[in-house]
Amino acid sequence: MIDMTMDNVDVVVVGAGFGGLRALHALRQQGKKVQVIEASNDVGGVWYHNGYPGARCDVESYDYSYSFSEELEQEWVWSERYATQPEILRYINHVVERFDLRKHIRFQCALERAEYDTKAALWRVHCSDGTQWSTRFLIMAVGQLSTPKSPSYPGLDKYSGQLIYSAQWPKEPVDYTNKRVAIIGTGSSGMQMTPIIAQKAAHLTVFQRTPNYSVPASNAPISAEEDRRVKANYRQRREQAWNSPTGLGFKPGKQSALEVSPEERAQVYEAAWHRLGFGFALTYFDILLNKKANDTAAEFIRNKIASVIEKPELRAKLVPYDHAFAARRPSVDSGYFQAFNRENVELADLRESPILEFTAEGIRTNAKDHKFDIIIFATGFDAFTGSLLKPEILGRNALSLKEKWAAGPVTQLGIGTSGFPNLFVLVGPGSPSLLSNVMVSIEEQSDWLANMIDHVDRLGVKEVEVTEEAERAWVAHVNARAHETLYLTANSYYNGAEVAGKPRVFMPYSGGVRGYRRLLNKCATNGYEGFELRDKPLSLNGQAVNEGAKLTSVGTLDSPLSSVVA
Ligand code: NAP
Repeated sequence: MIDMTMDNVDVVVVGAGFGGLRALHALRQQGKKVQVIEASNDVGGVWYHNGYPGARCDVESYDYSYSFSEELEQEWVWSERYATQPEILRYINHVVERFDLRKHIRFQCALERAEYDTKAALWRVHCSDGTQWSTRFLIMAVGQLSTPKSPSYPGLDKYSGQLIYSAQWPKEPVDYTNKRVAIIGTGSSGMQMTPIIAQKAAHLTVFQRTPNYSVPASNAPISAEEDRRVKANYRQRREQAWNSPTGLGFKPGKQSALEVSPEERAQVYEAAWHRLGFGFALTYFDILLNKKANDTAAEFIRNKIASVIEKPELRAKLVPYDHAFAARRPSVDSGYFQAFNRENVELADLRESPILEFTAEGIRTNAKDHKFDIIIFATGFDAFTGSLLKPEILGRNALSLKEKWAAGPVTQLGIGTSGFPNLFVLVGPGSPSLLSNVMVSIEEQSDWLANMIDHVDRLGVKEVEVTEEAERAWVAHVNARAHETLYLTANSYYNGAEVAGKPRVFMPYSGGVRGYRRLLNKCATNGYEGFELRDKPLSLNGQAVNEGAKLTSVGTLDSPLSSVVA
């Protein structure tokens, strides 16, 4: 029975970051009644929260922006090749106002529970502020890196200084001038903030567990001439991005790194080093496919990093050695390694001297008693599934998503999962997501979902549900593609290693955005193959109702992935 206190809408979208806003726009274009719910006070998702010093995008601004409106493309002026977080947030707000999206968003409204009403084929959505919605479709646009980790240490509660999480950076200014500051973590966030904080802090200590590869951003202001040139050919630039494997516009080199002379390779790497950012990984087609080819790139980068670090003992610690280049997410930095040449910057090697405890004044390792005014956790996220599994999502027969994905996420095309009709995930696990320019993935999937919803509405379809057969096949395909690469050779958030006890499965789709788009299109052309479209809810069809997660689990890294997928 429909609860009359619930507002009825066609679609509830969870999250008002780049993904949720793009889905909202696409669905509004189809005339759907859409409610976006957002836990924060404003739009922007990760770009709202990650306001740490030095935060900027490591995808070029022209590519990390919406392509759905040529007017928007032409009128917005980016000031730098890699936009800073404040500039990106201004852009998001501009889009929201320009397309009148704000009125569809409810803020400070976190999804707490969503239950599928099997008889009515409706999702009942319950939020933290007491609001409830009844909706046909539920789209989770909660981001892949939006649940920050909060490592626990003995004595953490005793620390009397300021404790900050990079992914929940305070809205009021943080004054680190002449302060003793610690950064824990050397992923992209830690690497971006280090050189900026180093300029003003009295002393900065960077706690490193794993040395990370990084390629220089070669950031620069965008001149009026460059802006004019890009905008004159923006469509071609977009086409190039859509048709590249990563959505960044870089085509993989046609040659193997191993088939050219060392001299030629050095020249090619040198040129890529100075301009390509992430594109460096595609200089030769096999850098991410073949360890020997990867070694040539890794060695080049190691030498580059070593060449800018003055102190030999720091060189030995900062140069990455224990994983293949780009098997974990590398960074694109602006002066990270050079910051360690400053007298006020210190490296604390956690492999050598782990943190024993927090004290009232700072951090104690077995090497030193550190005293800090500010400690910053740049320790990353519970990636891919953290935010999807935080609310209670109950599908058919009250099957919970947590239970269904206990051995790792199982999806068809990264978009839906059986047992959860009319629930869709934007840029979810099983889609190119974090292995792509996420903006391309967001747009690809938002349009596809809006078209699908429009299509099924026209047909009078009540329920759209992934078949178990389709999701098994997709998981097998995702795993097979991952096996072609070096991604499985490292522990990373791609495969659940970032959170103790998390299922060790490879989550993003490594087949590239172009290949993925073809699969999406093929799925739609074949009548949304892999999804069952029902004109009556399954429970009213007189058929047996799916009892829930009967799936063989997705692969673990301890077992050959392809053999455990039924
Ligand atoms: P991250 O890449 O996951 O890095 C977290 C860092 O914290 C790692 O160095 C990790 O060490 C360390 N760490 C985690 N737990 C720790 C613990 N208990 N004790 C000590 N060290 C610990 O997180 P992130 O730097 O926030 O970046 C996450 C992702 O966000 C990036 O990969 C990127 O996709 C995205 N990002 C993008 C941009 C952009 O410009 N677009 C900017 C920033 C971030 P281990 O490596 O040993 O685990």
